[in-house]
Amino acid sequence: MKIAVLPGDGIGPEIVAQAMKVLDALRRDGLKIETEQAAIGGAGYDAAGDPLPEATLGLARAADAVLLGAVGGPQYDRLERPLRPERGLLRIRKELNLFANLRPALLYPELAGASTLKPEVVAGLDILIVRELTGDVYFGQPRGIEVRNGERVGFNTMIYTESEIRRVAHVAFGIAMKRGKKLCSVEKANVLECSELWRDVVAEVARDYPEVELSSMYVDNAAMQLVRNPKQFDVIVTGNIFGDILSDEASMLSGSIGMLPSASLDARNKGLYEPIHGSAPDIAGRDLANPLATILSLAMMFKYTFGDEATAERIDNAVKKVIAQGYRTGDIWTEGCKRVSCSQMGDAVVAAM
Ligand code: NAD
Repeated sequence: MKIAVLPGDGIGPEIVAQAMKVLDALRRDGLKIETEQAAIGGAGYDAAGDPLPEATLGLARAADAVLLGAVGGPQYDRLERPLRPERGLLRIRKELNLFANLRPALLYPELAGASTLKPEVVAGLDILIVRELTGDVYFGQPRGIEVRNGERVGFNTMIYTESEIRRVAHVAFGIAMKRGKKLCSVEKANVLECSELWRDVVAEVARDYPEVELSSMYVDNAAMQLVRNPKQFDVIVTGNIFGDILSDEASMLSGSIGMLPSASLDARNKGLYEPIHGSAPDIAGRDLANPLATILSLAMMFKYTFGDEATAERIDNAVKKVIAQGYRTGDIWTEGCKRVSCSQMGDAVVAAM
């Protein structure tokens, strides 16, 4: 198992170091895991003048899976757009053809109080959002800002090909088959032609999965339903921009952004695994960050890329155990729990394994 490790910026190196401890523990138990690190984001710009240096992309291409911390920081905000850290992230997703982004939103019973929603609304929550990641208005051409009739105009293009919709729909139906067999496709077909095509193609793909119950929902309603009654969902599939927004909304259901992993997969289940949060410059370098989202991303890697459910479960269970034992980093701490640092949390997970 070859893993390219890209710590990135801010808290990235701190949280990735904890995931490396988990990999070391697995190696001691006999798993053959090779890791190599490279720079991405602001670190890539500092090292090679590029947020996705050629060497980093090469390493990522050669690996079976990529583990990424986070990118970005205020010191890079004034760079030209193509040099900004976030561009490195968008480019690696595009270059590796990682078109399906999987984001679970799962609530550990002990953390029900950390959500801003009532515990009875979120307790037992276990949903998964599949977001299309390489198309839509984020990549559509033409795009730009120009002067027309004496005033500035900003424009982007929302565009999906039928094959782009079909391949992400297949991923979502496949995952729904392994879960609760319910899939909700989210779009805005009442207003957007692009969404109309999305809805039609998803309905066509549904014929291959007669056991999965498919529903459609407009994105505005989905945003509302996610906070009204999130447990009605099992798997949600949606386009890039709607998925970006809904998955952040869903992350708040589970209390802390520091708990949520993600996977981005290509057609052959090669994947890039990363926490959903950013580089948290406000707490970087102080050993305060919650490393659990990164460690849970590693569990997803074993499940989806390496097909090793047992190891995935072992990591997931270790995280459940440390939460049950009362270990909490600052972001999820409540009265009566044991407040720990980022590195202490990493050690606790390894001990629980
Ligand atoms: P953020 O996710 O970095 O932080 C939001 C808030 O959550 C902050 O208060 C932060 O301290 C807290 N937080 C985030 N992760 C945490 C963790 N693991 N443990 C404890 N607390 C945590 O989002 P932001 O502040 O909007 O962005 C900061 C930088 O990160 C920006 O440069 C942004 O562009 C970048 N960013 C990167 C990614 C990515 O790498 N995938 C995603 C989002 C934002």
